[in-house]
Amino acid sequence: MGSESHQLHVLFFPFMASGHMIPMIDMAKLFAIRGCKSTLIATAHDEPTFLKSIAKTKDSGFNIDAVTVTLPLKEVGLPEDCDNLNKITTEEIHKQFMRAIMMLDQQLELLIEKLAPDCLVSDIFLPWTNEIATKWGIPRLVFHGTSAFSIAGMECVALYEPHKKVSCDLEPFVIPNFPGEITMSRMQLPDFYREETEFTKFFKEAKESEKQSFGVIMNSFYKLEPVYIDHYRTFLGRRSWFIGPLSLCNKETEDKAHRGNQASIDQHEFLNWLDSKQPNSVVYICFGSMANFNAAQLHEIAVGLEASGQQFIWVVKKDPNGEEGKEEWLPDGYESRIRDKGLIIRGWAPQVLILDHEAIGGFVTHCGWNSTLEAVAAGVPMVTWPVAAEQFFNEKFVTQSERVKEAVKRVLVGEEAEEMRKRSKALAEMARGAVEEGGSSWSDLGDLLQELRQQKLAHKKKI
Ligand code: UDP
Repeated sequence: MGSESHQLHVLFFPFMASGHMIPMIDMAKLFAIRGCKSTLIATAHDEPTFLKSIAKTKDSGFNIDAVTVTLPLKEVGLPEDCDNLNKITTEEIHKQFMRAIMMLDQQLELLIEKLAPDCLVSDIFLPWTNEIATKWGIPRLVFHGTSAFSIAGMECVALYEPHKKVSCDLEPFVIPNFPGEITMSRMQLPDFYREETEFTKFFKEAKESEKQSFGVIMNSFYKLEPVYIDHYRTFLGRRSWFIGPLSLCNKETEDKAHRGNQASIDQHEFLNWLDSKQPNSVVYICFGSMANFNAAQLHEIAVGLEASGQQFIWVVKKDPNGEEGKEEWLPDGYESRIRDKGLIIRGWAPQVLILDHEAIGGFVTHCGWNSTLEAVAAGVPMVTWPVAAEQFFNEKFVTQSERVKEAVKRVLVGEEAEEMRKRSKALAEMARGAVEEGGSSWSDLGDLLQELRQQKLAHKKKI
């Protein structure tokens, strides 16, 4: 590690949602492991979670810490516990929440003044931070929590507007100037692409601020999507660094177990349960940190899982409309029937710890980018099950326990499963190779740090 004055100090500002915070905490750890001083900005509510996630890295002697900001929730008329996107239930609350976040500008300025970082890495959803970084003469890097494929694809849709040239929501169109003849329909686009909403305006501003920023950091790796990374860099002209999979910086059980929120299950109990299973014999089902299903939908999944006859770990988030303590979705006597076969985790699961266990043979996922990449890194085949509004989630879902049954069996048993497993293991090896010394993600991060050091020197000379 370099001496204090030569050490790059990077300030990380994540957006307040688990799917954004978790990879940025990993990123801060990675930067610290590569010799930087990393400081993470957390709300007072999230600070304990952040501190727990970085404790092991800090104890190992790396320079990493968290500082707090206070979200002015009362000022925008929100209750005190509305401090994370996961708790936002209506569009109106969402608007107020975004307003409160924007009001953090002065607190950010004070932090930059006090800590004098050399660089700010902030989420794509914090576009206003760009101006502040510019004012204080430091580069701002944008963190995009998704793939080059989806970023570049969405950008080509925004540029050429093929969705405005079709007659209905279901008519397919090919994304222009995008490799691979990718066909989409308006239905498959995010809501804010389909109609002009307040978020459409906000997203345009975010993309504009991205263009003004120093560059973009992404949680992906070159060999996973070379064509789209090239497209993003050359055709769309974005300076970008692909440094993932970020989850791979969590090497020890303790690191993996403390990623994100406090797990809702005793670690030893479920590890014992998993240890008692054959390799590749358990399917893991989790739909990310946000997706909430209603009772009827949960019931269908429960029925499908039991009918599949396979072993499973199923993560169930609380039904926001359900009555406290009532689990109407659970079929009578379900848990005693499935006791040896299935485990239901109510709340938060230590996902990476689970995916890395050799007993896990498949993952039913909603295709959130973090989950997708975590499965790639762990070499676990996926059954993709998009659930978010922009991913054509609809009423039909409730009649699909047959689909749950088939999907679970497909990924665990038979020749196709064996083939999927082989492909997944090969991908996992590529992912590990990317983050090892000399790999593409390792080198991309090295190049970025080198550029930031030069920026720091140039800035010093100016003042
Ligand atoms: N996650 C977890 N336990 C859970 C639910 C989610 O550890 O019970 C983590 C998961 O490993 C991933 C993140 O939360 O890192 C979810 O991000 P993703 O992009 O997959 O989906 P989102 O929650 O943003 O829809």
